[in-house]
Amino acid sequence: REVVARIASGQIASSPAAVLKELIENALDAKASEVKVQVETPFNFRVSDNGIGIPYRELPLAVERFTTSKIFSVEELERVTSYGFRGEALFAISQFSTLEIKSRHEAEEVGGKLVVTAGEVKEYSPIPFRRGTTVTVSNLFFNVPVRRKATSQKERSLMERLTLRYALANPHVTFKFGELTLPATSLKERLIQVTRGKPKFQLIEGDGVTLFFSREERGPRELFVNRRPVSVPEVERLLEEFGVKAFVLFMELPPEEVDFNVSPLKEKVLFKSERGVKALRELLEGEFNLPKP
Ligand code: ADP
Ligand code: MG
Repeated sequence: REVVARIASGQIASSPAAVLKELIENALDAKASEVKVQVETPFNFRVSDNGIGIPYRELPLAVERFTTSKIFSVEELERVTSYGFRGEALFAISQFSTLEIKSRHEAEEVGGKLVVTAGEVKEYSPIPFRRGTTVTVSNLFFNVPVRRKATSQKERSLMERLTLRYALANPHVTFKFGELTLPATSLKERLIQVTRGKPKFQLIEGDGVTLFFSREERGPRELFVNRRPVSVPEVERLLEEFGVKAFVLFMELPPEEVDFNVSPLKEKVLFKSERGVKALRELLEGEFNLPKP
């Protein structure tokens, strides 16, 4: 059982960026209006949010395996709209680092601090704290030497790009990454904040599809399905077919039509029906007046 747990955890906490992704998603699930990422090194970093916080009594549960506050029934699993729902991430991260959680729940007066090293609780005590949560990861992968190889500069830039992806998908949230601040704004403005205005995007919108694109200049190629950054090769091929060189595409599909469970990293998704791709194709055909290939 130990071994199985370690392998499963290893898939979630596979790299510094994968760990950061889980922390950012938790902050967003907590309805934060501000998410702050501080990367000292890829193995020592911190995410702070001003979300609902964690009740003191539930702090130890947060790092327990398969405990989540986000799903209450099997039926809900089908329609899940939060980023997280498996209750595995903090457990996994705590196996490979020193994880410190400081939090105060919005309905409580005193906050709490929990420190876990390699799965073992080292400290659990009340502290004064503002509303929200700060999660600090130290010494990540201290017990998995092969994962400490990541070169600092490369990993840092992966972490920044990841943060910017979530910033794109959540324009109403203020994001900070180191010295960089992206104040809460509209989607259009957020896109300009993130890309610094290059390339110049055109916008087309359709049923559940918001597509910023350029057919002139190369640039980012980002796809979001229900606000999750994902890659879907068939969608990328389709855009290429229409001569799109850069794009930021948001697709909204009913949760039950999308399977984010394909990999533990949730980066690949399966569309359970043709609906999403069909809607996009029709939109592109309409926009570019091309005959159906
Ligand atoms: P999941 O997100 O799948 O529920 P996690 O292991 O990522 O699992 O988190 C476990 C639980 O810890 C969450 O369900 C939530 O209750 C709590 N939690 C984690 N991070 C935060 C946060 N930043 N703000 C509020 N609650 C949090
Ligand atoms: Mg989570």
